[in-house]
Amino acid sequence: MIVPRHPFFLMTLSGLMMLVACSANDKSRKTKFNAGYRSPSLFGSGLRNPDINLPSEFPSDVGISHRRGRTDLPYIAMTFDDGPHPENTPRLLDMLRERNIKATFYVIGRSVDMYPHIVRRMVAEGHEIGNHTWTHPNLTRMSNASIRTEMDRTRNVIISACGVKPRTMRPPYGALRESQRAWIHKEYGYPTIMWNVDPRDWQRPGVSVVTSRILDKTMNGSIVLAHDLHKPTVDAMPDTLDGLLKRGFQFVTVSQLLTLNSSLSDVSTKKPAQPKAVAGGARQDGSESLTFVKVPAFKQ
Ligand SMILES: [Zn+2]
Repeated sequence: MIVPRHPFFLMTLSGLMMLVACSANDKSRKTKFNAGYRSPSLFGSGLRNPDINLPSEFPSDVGISHRRGRTDLPYIAMTFDDGPHPENTPRLLDMLRERNIKATFYVIGRSVDMYPHIVRRMVAEGHEIGNHTWTHPNLTRMSNASIRTEMDRTRNVIISACGVKPRTMRPPYGALRESQRAWIHKEYGYPTIMWNVDPRDWQRPGVSVVTSRILDKTMNGSIVLAHDLHKPTVDAMPDTLDGLLKRGFQFVTVSQLLTLNSSLSDVSTKKPAQPKAVAGGARQDGSESLTFVKVPAFKQ
């Protein structure tokens, strides 16, 4: 079909499309039952995390195990474990995107294998991916060879899904012996990431309880544990995230939080200050490209 490209034709075409759209809106406004409806997820709360200009390349001597970031600045890291989940995780990603919040996802390898497109979306939207093993076992009972299988399969499927290597790991159930942490750090360069805020959301205590537990315990440098596997946890996130933003906390990824550890002596005596913003809302992490590898053909 030959399509005329004259500007007048295009203007007329767009005018017609607007007319059709307006007619549809007029109709919907007259519909009795949805007259006042606005999608809450479409517009969010209006609260927004600032663009944060922190690198993600923490030094290799940053330490083997971490429960929180050692900073007096109001930076915190939200971490979500046990995904990706086909419904809950995309819903959470919408909530994070509306607020410009970058989080860290400790994903299970076999779930990444099932839903690689969700992990790809995480990375595309500026989130960080961590290794949470392939089958979610208790690693304390396993040999180094078996742990290697869990780690390797998960690292490889993450790279296949999104082209980014994990920088950190979190052991299932937080269970990992000191010697195993040291071995994983030596073999993979992964610091073991624990947490200092645990709402015990996996026990499903109720949406408002999850929110209040997180708001009560979070402090500067906190690493907050939550699970995007569970629907009530995701239901709790709008109020939780907005509550944390209202209290002045700023969200960074785990690796960004770790970069602050080495400069503790520089920041510990300073009052909380606004971090520099990146102009134009650009990706906050230019160093991310350092870990990109060739992405194979994407499997839907
Ligand atoms: Zn887990």
